[in-house]
Amino acid sequence: MIKNINVALIGNPNTGKTSVFNALTGLNQKVGNYPGITVEKKQGYCRLDRITKARILDLPGTYSLNASSMDESVVIELLLNKNDPDFPDVAVVVTDVENLKRNLLLFTQIKDLEIPTVLVINMSDQMSRKGIKIDIEKLKEKLNTEVVLISTRKNLGVELLKEVLVNYRQLSKAPILDTKTIDPAYFESLSRAFPNQSLYKLWLVITQDVNFTKLQRQKVPDTTAFRTQPKSYLKRLQQRETIRRYQVINQILKATYQVNREEATDLRTRLDNLLIHKFWGYVIFFMILLTIFQSIFDWSSVPMDFIDASFANLSDWTKAQMPAGILTDLITEGVIPGLGGIVIFIPQIAFLFLFISILEETGYMSRVVFLMDRGLRKFGLSGKSVLPLISGTACAIPAVMATRNIENWKERLITILVVPFTTCSARLPVYMILISLVIPDERIIGINYQGLSLMGLYLIGFLMAILSAAILNHILKSPNKSYFVVEMPNYKLPLLKNVAITVWEKTRSFVVEAGKIILAISILLWFMASFGPGKNFSEAESLMTEKFSQASLSEIELEQEIAAFRLENSYIGILGKSIEPLIKPLGYDWKIGIALISSFAAREVFVGTLATIYSVGSGAQETIKKRMARELKSDGTALFNLATGISLMLFYAFAMQCMSTLAIVKKETNSWKWPMIQLLSMSIIAYLAALIAYQLLK
Ligand code: GDP
Ligand code: MG
Repeated sequence: MIKNINVALIGNPNTGKTSVFNALTGLNQKVGNYPGITVEKKQGYCRLDRITKARILDLPGTYSLNASSMDESVVIELLLNKNDPDFPDVAVVVTDVENLKRNLLLFTQIKDLEIPTVLVINMSDQMSRKGIKIDIEKLKEKLNTEVVLISTRKNLGVELLKEVLVNYRQLSKAPILDTKTIDPAYFESLSRAFPNQSLYKLWLVITQDVNFTKLQRQKVPDTTAFRTQPKSYLKRLQQRETIRRYQVINQILKATYQVNREEATDLRTRLDNLLIHKFWGYVIFFMILLTIFQSIFDWSSVPMDFIDASFANLSDWTKAQMPAGILTDLITEGVIPGLGGIVIFIPQIAFLFLFISILEETGYMSRVVFLMDRGLRKFGLSGKSVLPLISGTACAIPAVMATRNIENWKERLITILVVPFTTCSARLPVYMILISLVIPDERIIGINYQGLSLMGLYLIGFLMAILSAAILNHILKSPNKSYFVVEMPNYKLPLLKNVAITVWEKTRSFVVEAGKIILAISILLWFMASFGPGKNFSEAESLMTEKFSQASLSEIELEQEIAAFRLENSYIGILGKSIEPLIKPLGYDWKIGIALISSFAAREVFVGTLATIYSVGSGAQETIKKRMARELKSDGTALFNLATGISLMLFYAFAMQCMSTLAIVKKETNSWKWPMIQLLSMSIIAYLAALIAYQLLK
């Protein structure tokens, strides 16, 4: 008499399930689909011994039993339903010897369902090259089941696996993790309500309920009464479960699994030894970073200047072609510069993502993450936050976009929120002019004060980013904790096509999504600067001509006076004046107020706006710097003194003075909530810092 048993092959993707399946079944297999969905179903037969025939099911790859995809729910639904004709008599969890830790998470979950479970460690042919040693006997003891080391490539261990499967009845069904320890009270009452069920199975039924259809729900125990707790409570228990599992796994592996990198002989491991070396790893990483940012600055300055000039020319040309009027002004002074303000970011975005995708494609990025993760994790950031944070020194826009490969939402959000604190290149012109105005050009022991100040501003930006990350880490709740399970892919040459697609995709999505908001705000700012209520605005020209009729002003000088008067009486000017009481304690007057508001378009606009207000044009004798130095307060002392200068620099260091960053944050977080929180909190920090600095120094 032939005895039939069901065997299910389960495991993370790419661990070699299909290879084991093929080794067991040979050509004796058929491929179909799971009813109603497009997930492939592979089954085959294997004669284990004279009287035992196994029906083997090659299940889709899954990382855990907390389903997130269709493939994964196939596995869970099968394991939760004892009446399914495919329900396994014995489960074979296939793992990859190199990623045993991550793989064991799934193993412990399946074992805890009280199904006889065999652990197969595949790819054993890699062990000596990687310097891996496993104490199999001890591992069997700790996991309380059979462990089979195999290599489908070398055809080792497959016969042993068959023997183990034949004797599956001898396998212990005892769970590894005592589910009750997750929350004694909750699980005690659960086990009292269903005394004959596996506790872990009940728990999965509760947490997976959302994924069930009505039909499936009829096949599992009715746990409605235990789902009444708030979702966040169940989520927390789930987190605790994962933490417990990793604790157990770490303990077991510590006693049974060793990697001796020095013994490893393959090129990959030797490269790894260098690239994640405690000293050389960092040196190499910072050299690569330096090269990247050098190139981004060098390469993008040419196209950026070209874009700048082209849009200015386009604007002039259009102005010449169209009849004078509001529509022409809207197009040439609002729309075209607004579009230019979007396109100007393209070179930086494209270059940054060119480098990022090359680093990712080659496999180097996961080494960086491995290297940086430990240090950054303390601050609620991830190893993957390094690149965005450093990219922020060029521009926050590509930096925020570069957070997208941080899988954990909380870490990604924190990175997005703190990136704008790093000193981007748009702050440089503002810093430069203020430093040269208020910091003496002198040296102390060979170090220039001005250079020191600039460096100080960069440092302050970084420190503020790290500090606020640490604070946010405490404030923000996290739906799921991220575990340090970086996959280390093999090194390979980057695929040109993948790189090109990444660059194109990032650039396109910036232009289309964030571009809309940038354009809209540009037009709004243009409108506010180009219109004003009342006579002063509409009759600025005649008023000024009259005022200066006695003075012998050149035509250019008169035009500058008109422009300055117009700006003063525009909506932006009125807004600037009306915030004067608010910014007076920081040492600013209404003219600086106007510059603050208009520099919301882009920080560097600050200098240009002051030039307009002080009526310093391009043809003028006097530079804007000299003009600023000459500006006096009502008490006759210089307006731009040390106190005001420092106050302004700190304001620009901390304030979210950039509509484009807000636009990209809106796009990346998919809501207005985060950019608004960012705008508000950064403005408050900037205001307080500037206030304290001014009041102390004045
Ligand atoms: P599945 O996704 O779990 O079904 O995994 P596959 O059976 O498709 O195998 C994934 C990859 O691992 C393939 O490239 C296989 O060639 C490779 N692989 C499978 N078994 C072994 C093994 O024993 N040794 C080595 N070195 N590679 C293997
Ligand atoms: Mg497969």
